[in-house]
Amino acid sequence: MAKKTEAKKVEKTSAKKVTEKSKPTKSETKKNMLSDLSSVNKLRLLYELQIIDSSIDNIKTIRGELPLEVQDLEDEIVGFDTRIKNLVQEIKEIDSSVAQRKNGVEKAKNLIKKYEEQQKNVRNNREFDSLSKELEFQGLEIELNEKIIKECGIKIKDKKREIEATKAMLADKKVALEEKKRELNEITSETATDEKELIVRADEIKDLIESRLLTAYNKIRHNARNGLAVVTVKRDACGGCFNKIPPQRQLDIKLSKKVIVCEYCGRILVDADFANE
Ligand SMILES: [Zn+2]
Repeated sequence: MAKKTEAKKVEKTSAKKVTEKSKPTKSETKKNMLSDLSSVNKLRLLYELQIIDSSIDNIKTIRGELPLEVQDLEDEIVGFDTRIKNLVQEIKEIDSSVAQRKNGVEKAKNLIKKYEEQQKNVRNNREFDSLSKELEFQGLEIELNEKIIKECGIKIKDKKREIEATKAMLADKKVALEEKKRELNEITSETATDEKELIVRADEIKDLIESRLLTAYNKIRHNARNGLAVVTVKRDACGGCFNKIPPQRQLDIKLSKKVIVCEYCGRILVDADFANE
């Protein structure tokens, strides 16, 4: 604390000295320029900084959503690819079980032929009945296998239809992805230079604004939902929260003699004419 006040004193005295000296040094010139900044200039600089920061915010917002959209589309495409692969694999499995069932039908048919031959040469009724039961069993076996084969055919058809639908969606997503990627590239290359220039200009202005005021500006901006720390008076109201400003206060704002904040939202209020300059 003691050091701070001391530093302030030094600064004040050196500023006094500068006016007495005929040729100030470079650093003294800068200090002098800062202390000489009139309130109007301070407010104008703050307002300009706000405009630049808002432009940078805009660029970030536009670009900020596109990479996410690209990522989403890429994820969806991977998902569709996986779905198609899974369906193809499922069809393969069903195909092999169909082959198995067909094999079962053949076996049963052969057995039926065999049993029918045997039935012609039976020695007694008991043998005949036993073969009849076998024949009946193999008949049921064929029926069951054929029923399953039929069901498998329907399942395969459904899965093939699903593959076609997924392929169509996949193709659409791929087109959309290309479009988004192109859009993102355009915006990135378009705004990259703008953004750089804006950041350079913002830094230049920040150098001219006293740190206490800059800290306040950053704090207000950080707390404001729309990133606005400096607003003009619009239709007798705060341009940030739209609460009415009393006429006397509006006059003070118009004079730009000091930093005036909105009593409702805390934003710094500046003359509406600043917006037209
Ligand atoms: Zn306000």
